[in-house]
Amino acid sequence: MKVAVLALQGAFIEHEKILNKMGIDVIELRKKEDLDKHFDGLILPGGESTVQGKLLKEFDMFDTIQDKIKNGMPVLATCAGLILLAEKISNDSNVYFKTLPVEVKRNAYGRQLGSFHHEENIKDLGSFPMNFIRAPYIEKASEDVEILAKVDEKIVAVRYKNQIAVCFHPELVNDFRIHQLFVNSIAQCNENKEICAN
Ligand code: GLN
Repeated sequence: MKVAVLALQGAFIEHEKILNKMGIDVIELRKKEDLDKHFDGLILPGGESTVQGKLLKEFDMFDTIQDKIKNGMPVLATCAGLILLAEKISNDSNVYFKTLPVEVKRNAYGRQLGSFHHEENIKDLGSFPMNFIRAPYIEKASEDVEILAKVDEKIVAVRYKNQIAVCFHPELVNDFRIHQLFVNSIAQCNENKEICAN
């Protein structure tokens, strides 16, 4: 199994380190040609969604990645990555892949709560350490989106078909359960493509 990490900007190395520790092969997506390589799953890391969105277009990578996600490629998106997937962004006129039927609010916790740590239950995983860094939260989710976690009534983790998206940074803690969930979903998709097909 090979996992690609979008490596244009943001916290991609941290994801790579976790995947390495888990014994998963990793490739970095830095330019259009990298998208010709084989990979079974994709990580969209945290960072700045506006910068990542701009670079994806500039490097002519946007359409191919969007097609792959639409065609069922398993994706794990963290923070800015989630913003890239969202169908709507309530406080920004930009919108990117639009493959995840949720409405997110960018920098939703305001300045004072720009960064904070919280422990909260994730469905099927139990208590999980969550680091929020200028994070979004999900204001609305379509009925068929599975809600995996909420913090103070705000949705912070979801799963929808081939996509797992979280508002916090599982790559910054020494707990691989979210990455394991993702790797399991890749294995399931490889066995039965229909599970993930959009
Ligand atoms: N504030 C960033 C954005 O709106 C997301 C922050 C993050 O990824 N940690 O894109």
